[in-house]
Amino acid sequence: MSRQPSAYHRPQSVDEAMGLLEKTAVYSLGGGTKLLADDVQGEVVDLQDLNLDAIEWTDGVLTVGAMVTLTDFAARLADAPTTGAAPLLADAIHRAGANTYRNAATIGGSIASRLPDSELLAALLVLDATLVMGDGAEVALAEYLADDTIMGLITAVRIQCTTGHGKADRVARTPADYPIVSVIMWQPAGGEMRIAGTGMNARPALLNADNPVCTHPGDFRGNAAYRAKMTAVLIKRAAAAAA
Ligand SMILES: Cc1cc2nc3c(=O)[nH]c(=O)nc-3n(C[C@H](O)[C@H](O)[C@H](O)COP(=O)(O)OP(=O)(O)OC[C@H]3O[C@@H](n4cnc5c(N)ncnc54)[C@H](O)[C@@H]3O)c2cc1C
Repeated sequence: MSRQPSAYHRPQSVDEAMGLLEKTAVYSLGGGTKLLADDVQGEVVDLQDLNLDAIEWTDGVLTVGAMVTLTDFAARLADAPTTGAAPLLADAIHRAGANTYRNAATIGGSIASRLPDSELLAALLVLDATLVMGDGAEVALAEYLADDTIMGLITAVRIQCTTGHGKADRVARTPADYPIVSVIMWQPAGGEMRIAGTGMNARPALLNADNPVCTHPGDFRGNAAYRAKMTAVLIKRAAAAAA
């Protein structure tokens, strides 16, 4: 039988939420698609009254509140100022799972879940996303994914949506399955190409296109040698698309 949270809190301000989250075994509740399915052993702090559901564009930077659902995020990208980043993000959101799940899952919860195969996290990495934490500090997503000791309330994600073009590519057993290996390339206008991938390491990570590091030990989806080989193929295709 699934375990219920031992207490439910619904704070009215970020400060109040931060106070509640200071205790151990107290968890932020976003859309609940993962937290509640994982059998919570502790208390939950529902973030829905904190006004973290706005999306703003300022000078090429997109700021998305942590409680924006993946469905609302994708819908708002459709009216975004013309930039190649919007379709790249919309495609990555679409690949994040079925629409029933996207209707509930939030961007904050998706980031905090640090899912190893998330193409959405890879897309955010190439767009140089940073996280705004409850105390106002800003942390690079790349740093957050590489360091599990960085925890705490995420209130927003800031994404560099300058002009450019991108390409996503993947190898998967079926179109609906998690990718075995995936690569996302972003070529900003006048800037340096950035590539991120999943399935090569424990978490989505930025890659060195000339010398990608693959530490994934392999699993039922694909062994280590196959992953390394496919990484090289996908990076080659991404570089060709950038050129
Ligand atoms: C049946 C099932 C199917 C799934 N399918 C997919 C899928 O197809 N693709 C996919 O990518 N994922 C999938 N997931 C994983 C999960 O749904 C995602 O990670 C989801 O994006 C989590 O978002 P959420 O808002 O529901 O987070 P929650 O479930 O509310 O929280 C998830 C984690 O994030 C923390 N958290 C939530 N919000 C914040 C915040 N603002 N700041 C700090 N920490 C926070 C919570 O404390 C918890 O640890 C699936 C999970 C289940 C159970």
